Amino acid sequence: MTKKPVVMFIGAHPDDIELNCGGTVLKLVESGKNVGIIDLTEGELSTRGNRRSRVLETSAASKLLGISFRENLKIRDGSIEINKINREKIIRVLRKYKPEIVFAPYPNDRHPDHIYAGNLIRESVFYSGLMKIRTGNLKAFKPGKLYFYRSAIDIPVSFIFDISSVFKKKLEVLKCYRTQFYDSESKEPETFISSSFFRNEIEARARHYGFKIGAEFGEPYYSYDAIRINDKTIFEI
Ligand SMILES: [Zn+2]
Repeated sequence: MTKKPVVMFIGAHPDDIELNCGGTVLKLVESGKNVGIIDLTEGELSTRGNRRSRVLETSAASKLLGISFRENLKIRDGSIEINKINREKIIRVLRKYKPEIVFAPYPNDRHPDHIYAGNLIRESVFYSGLMKIRTGNLKAFKPGKLYFYRSAIDIPVSFIFDISSVFKKKLEVLKCYRTQFYDSESKEPETFISSSFFRNEIEARARHYGFKIGAEFGEPYYSYDAIRINDKTIFEI
């Protein structure tokens, strides 16, 4: 039996992946890939909800996504610093799961954690391939591809993933995060992502990127490296 390709999505906060890449995760799981999520922090600085509620919400969302693994690296929320300790935490999960593709936040955004996370992951992917950086029994491993996803602000786009067939399910997954997104019953203070405007923006954004590729819904990605195609795959773009 051939081993299933591993795809790893890394987010600064639990819910970042569901929000920005949820459709892509669902499609890759559906196509038989071994998909997992790494959360860098527990999102403990969030205005709404608390650590406990976030853990329960994350577990419900993971189940619905159908992913094979999820780990939280417990870096302090609001303090994703680029240092040796944090780099080693990421290198360890890269070497443990050996993903062929890694997805990370584009390192320009309104939230500083997303900026730091993007740069920290980019560095870690590079250093993970160096055998003289030792992590016990875990051997050097360099993922083949690193793609960056959009958070709150626009990014340069290298490709758009067609998520039309799973968009409704993506919304179901987001509903697992009851304390974070729009809930007309909630008595907690309103935040940037819990307003009804933001709820509408999720659909508007997916439609906007879908339209660019002749699909109903899409999620955009950026690659610093050029993307290789050949005489067969040229018809797929
Ligand atoms: Zn975030």
